[in-house]
Amino acid sequence: MEGEEVCLPVCDACRQPAVYYDRNKGGHLCGAHLVSGIEARARSTIDRYDMIGGGDRIAVGLSGGKDSSALLILLSKIVPGYRGASLFAVTVDEGIAGYRDETIASAIALTGRLGIPHRIVSFESLYGRSLDAILKRGKYHPCTVCGILRKKALADVAREERADSIATGHNLDDEAQSVLMNYLRGDLARLVRRPGERKGAGFTRRIKPFLEVSEKEVTLYSLLNGCQICLPECPYAGSSLRSEVRSMQSSLEYAYPGSSLRLIHGRERLFGILDHDALGKERSHCPICGEPCSGTTCQACRLLVEISGENKDNKKRFTT
Ligand code: SF4
Ligand code: ZN
Repeated sequence: MEGEEVCLPVCDACRQPAVYYDRNKGGHLCGAHLVSGIEARARSTIDRYDMIGGGDRIAVGLSGGKDSSALLILLSKIVPGYRGASLFAVTVDEGIAGYRDETIASAIALTGRLGIPHRIVSFESLYGRSLDAILKRGKYHPCTVCGILRKKALADVAREERADSIATGHNLDDEAQSVLMNYLRGDLARLVRRPGERKGAGFTRRIKPFLEVSEKEVTLYSLLNGCQICLPECPYAGSSLRSEVRSMQSSLEYAYPGSSLRLIHGRERLFGILDHDALGKERSHCPICGEPCSGTTCQACRLLVEISGENKDNKKRFTT
């Protein structure tokens, strides 16, 4: 109404205009306090799980999207604090027409701006076929094949580069969804796998510094750090168990703020009760690639054998 004063929310810490309302804690934050709060939370996660040590060489999975870009920015600020630790970025081009070109351009621009070494590898160069070509050849579930082969590509580059760990941009929402999915699949061994777990010879540990930072916060963090990311959606998105679990998790988080965090804290309590090794998964190493696996050969190598047409009996494993 005319003459009525509009009262814009201000930051609880400094009274500057707020950009974010934390529904979990019930407070407003300006851009600077949001950024410093996210960095403090990520540092505390890194320390709690002992994710980074002096001298570590860290491979950062960089798709060029908001989460992985935010992660590279965060680590470029934090890692110099660990004596002798270093970073390099790895982008995997799965070969998805009309989608990956823009994210790769964005990854190249970011690594250039931050002065971080960058390797780009593709499914085509590693496995002889793009994801599009693999999907044309058989009735595979796109995200299953994409996820398995991307993970393998990152692990192979990390091993080749003698990296100590692989950092990924998984955030609190992703992690809460994974916990729910592991419950739904009854996969207790995966449920109690500790973030940043060290599994011994042949395995490059995986770290997730944004484990306790929500997707919305990570998006704002990337924007507030100068990333203008407005990228197309993957044409294969929206057809997986994860996409259904994602809508469930986001509705629960909206109705009951803090549910996602409580879910992963609940899992943490299970770490002390359920013994991952006793649950019987990942006891051996794949004879082809050396990664830990539950059967005689790892999922990725089985899939690659199948794609090359040598063993059609495995097909049912990768279509759900
Ligand atoms: Fe790969 Fe699925 Fe993500 Fe697309 S939506 S990039 S197919 S995991
Ligand atoms: Zn293997």
